[in-house]
Amino acid sequence: MEFQDKLLKIKAFALDIDGVITDGSVIVDSNGKPLRNFNERDGFALRMAATHDYPLAVITGGSLEQVRFRMTQYGVKAEDVYMHSSNKIVDFKRFCDKYGLQPDEVLYMGDDLPDLAVIMAAGVGVGPSDSCPEVLEAADYITPCEGGRGVVRHAIEMTMKAQGTWIFNVQRYGDMF
Ligand SMILES: [Mg+2]
Repeated sequence: MEFQDKLLKIKAFALDIDGVITDGSVIVDSNGKPLRNFNERDGFALRMAATHDYPLAVITGGSLEQVRFRMTQYGVKAEDVYMHSSNKIVDFKRFCDKYGLQPDEVLYMGDDLPDLAVIMAAGVGVGPSDSCPEVLEAADYITPCEGGRGVVRHAIEMTMKAQGTWIFNVQRYGDMF
């Protein structure tokens, strides 16, 4: 199937956190708590998708509740943030079942070995340009940017522009706050 046709089938977006919406680095504060840098333009793209009713999921091995909270501010439903995910394909299938989606109707973004099975199962598997070699090999699409430098923005904007839905509705955007 042509890449453009794969994009047109996408109805939902799912993503890993570290190395995708962040550059993969973690700062540990004096209490031992990890702090992460989120890319706010990526966050805006998630909000755009949310205002157009695309289901959104986060599937992360991380366990920090603050990450779940931040994702809800981008329009991801709290129950669709899968934390502590040691086998990501299981949580990916759970997300698909919940929304009645086929795996090929979901675009998934991930950068490392735990993401590989989902990248292969998803309709469009996306990796940042600094993904591990196995992801670079398996992904349908590699973004021109590295993790934390606009990967999520790039993938969502590309898909929504292909579908004609990349339209900023200030009213619906405002309703999310
Ligand atoms: Mg990662």
